Amino acid sequence: MSNKFVEFQNQVETVRARQAAGEITQAELEETLRKMKLKDDKWGDTWMISPTGEWFRKAKGSDTWVRDYPVELIDPATLPPIPEMDLAQIARAVYDCTRCRLHESRTRGVPGEGPANADIMLIGEGPGYNEDKQGRPFVGAAGKFLEELLAEAGYKREDVFITNVVKSRPPNNRDPEPDEIEACKPYLDRQIELINPKVIVTLGRHSMYRYFPGASITKIHGQPERVGNRLIVPMFHPAAALHQPKWRSFIVEDFRKLPEFVKEAISFDQAKDNVDPSSATQLNLF
Ligand code: URA
Repeated sequence: MSNKFVEFQNQVETVRARQAAGEITQAELEETLRKMKLKDDKWGDTWMISPTGEWFRKAKGSDTWVRDYPVELIDPATLPPIPEMDLAQIARAVYDCTRCRLHESRTRGVPGEGPANADIMLIGEGPGYNEDKQGRPFVGAAGKFLEELLAEAGYKREDVFITNVVKSRPPNNRDPEPDEIEACKPYLDRQIELINPKVIVTLGRHSMYRYFPGASITKIHGQPERVGNRLIVPMFHPAAALHQPKWRSFIVEDFRKLPEFVKEAISFDQAKDNVDPSSATQLNLF
């Protein structure tokens, strides 16, 4: 595979090798890499690589650099089945996905973003207008509110993994259909398996139904449910809560409890680690 991304990566590798060989200093390496940028012809995004070799992307229309991985570096012909993909391969598959009708009207697939080892995973409904343009989740008004909610809990956006039940925008922001959610489910299942978050927050009805089919969000919001060694916390969708003063205060309160939930879920892991293997079957009963 040879394209602009491979060439750019090679150029960066050459500079990093010069630093490793002592020909340039660390400061010179950083300065050189800061100046090296790659413009994506297709979407108008800008890319760069950090001194430690990680890719960052600034989507057209955004002024934020986000850790990402160019799907152009993955040959679609080499993709394994979804349950065996890594996060970058999922992104490639989502970008090219035709598993449901949503691909016909989307601009870009939106796989999700955040640390591969995030403690918290937020699952929304589906990309909206801005997300579809930038290929990033929650970048519109709801995303801004989501960042405020995370700040209430002492987190930054970059601390959590954010994704959706459907990875392509439903036309005119309509609700995702059950068969569209089903078609996207293997991606979400695999993301959850790989990231293995301590806490999953479902945002809105459609992601809540994954764990609590038919439940009422007004009744169960903010109440965590233990599933294995993880807590699932249903919450209102930020876009809905933004304009409903009552729900807004609920979602703020629910987000403020997030650090407690993470602490609680970490204690499940520790409890498991402390378990005498012979008593494991007994513990499973609970
Ligand atoms: N609403 C969602 O549910 N997800 C997004 O990514 C953006 C808005």
